[in-house]
Amino acid sequence: MDLKKHVDFDNLEVAFASKNDKTLKKIHFVFSTMGSSAMVKTGTTLTKLALKSGLPVKGIIKRTLFDIFCGGENIEECQRTAEQMSKFNIGAILDYSVEGEKTEAGFEATTAEIVRTIEKAGNSAHIPFGAFKVTGIGSFDLLAKIQAKETLTDEEVSAFQKVRERVDRICALGHELGVKVLIDAEETWIQKPIDDLAYEMMEKYNREKALIYNTYQMYRHEALQELKDTQKDAVAKGYFLGAKLVRGAYMEKERERAMDMGYPSPIQPDKESSDRDFDLGLEFCIENINNTALFCGSHNEKSNYHLTHLIEEKGIARDDDRVYFAQLYGMSDNISFNLANSQFQVAKYLPYGPIKATIPYLIRRAEENTSVKGQSGRELTLVKREMARRKGK
Ligand SMILES: Cc1cc2nc3c(=O)[nH]c(=O)nc-3n(C[C@H](O)[C@H](O)[C@H](O)COP(=O)(O)OP(=O)(O)OC[C@H]3O[C@@H](n4cnc5c(N)ncnc54)[C@H](O)[C@@H]3O)c2cc1C
Repeated sequence: MDLKKHVDFDNLEVAFASKNDKTLKKIHFVFSTMGSSAMVKTGTTLTKLALKSGLPVKGIIKRTLFDIFCGGENIEECQRTAEQMSKFNIGAILDYSVEGEKTEAGFEATTAEIVRTIEKAGNSAHIPFGAFKVTGIGSFDLLAKIQAKETLTDEEVSAFQKVRERVDRICALGHELGVKVLIDAEETWIQKPIDDLAYEMMEKYNREKALIYNTYQMYRHEALQELKDTQKDAVAKGYFLGAKLVRGAYMEKERERAMDMGYPSPIQPDKESSDRDFDLGLEFCIENINNTALFCGSHNEKSNYHLTHLIEEKGIARDDDRVYFAQLYGMSDNISFNLANSQFQVAKYLPYGPIKATIPYLIRRAEENTSVKGQSGRELTLVKREMARRKGK
């Protein structure tokens, strides 16, 4: 099969059209630094120390990691980044990246900010989705307790009522403004109440079309079956399924916990199994496109190519908004820009927030990118090739 029949991710001229030489140099610098795990370890420790002691490292972080991986410090700054991407037909998904809130006041403030992102999406053609994590608006420990079927105190019962009300507030607004809303997936030991909330919202708001999406982590060996079961359930109950497919971000943590606590790991035995189920999940959603909308969140070239073939074979229009490709801002531009250039629907998660608050997100990106075989190796190779191509012109 000719993988590149509908799009070519190796077209670097298209991939980097939005970047000038100076920006390319900066990306080269950041990804080569991240390629060294010693540098990342030292950098991470120094950053944490410097922030604690009040040393002025924010400027350096802003000019490097933050500029590459975040859209700005607030919605207004993201607007500029979103407009820039829209010139290349790429949508933005405003992702408020403040983590670790633990108080009711903090959860309310985060909910209010997410509501603002949905409002912004409602009046901007460049922002097709809103997105949020339930742990941003409710307590992680409470979700874990609910999943473990522990008895809740009255206070906890009322706290969970508030979580449900916040989720509803966000989804109701999405429904009112016609903005699609993605509910991110998290750790398996809190995922059940998140799923339940997501299905409750879908049943309520996905009556005319899929607006609310739940996330399926295909590195879980049960995920493919769950996807199939929920699709059946959606048909039976008369609503549209919104399915965001990802491989999953918490593999090591999941395996470690299962080992420590002595239960079977919920994660696939190997990468090939995750890859197989991810692609089978894409096939299943496209086969059932009549009542399913698909959001494919992946940097895997093969899966992205596979989806272009499925779309074409099924005769779905490339600009049909029931099928979206998505990557994270600052990663895999060769996939995003080439897909968009070939008229497929593409959006990028655009994390934002005050610099200090986005540091955990940035450190995760840096740690994830340390392996030479991993994403930073891929990104670095592409940037080097583009720099050489420009020099040779
Ligand atoms: C737009 C977008 C939204 C996302 N939203 C979420 C979200 O809501 N929740 C979430 O958990 N993640 C989310 N992610 C992250 C995602 O789950 C992956 O961690 C990340 O995208 C890497 O996978 P990949 O498909 O891009 O490609 P690849 O680089 O091909 O795959 C890497 C992934 O494969 C899996 N894997 C690797 N080694 C093994 C192994 N030995 N055995 C089994 N599986 C293995 C892991 O999931 C690993 O992350 C999102 C990613 C994107 C692009």
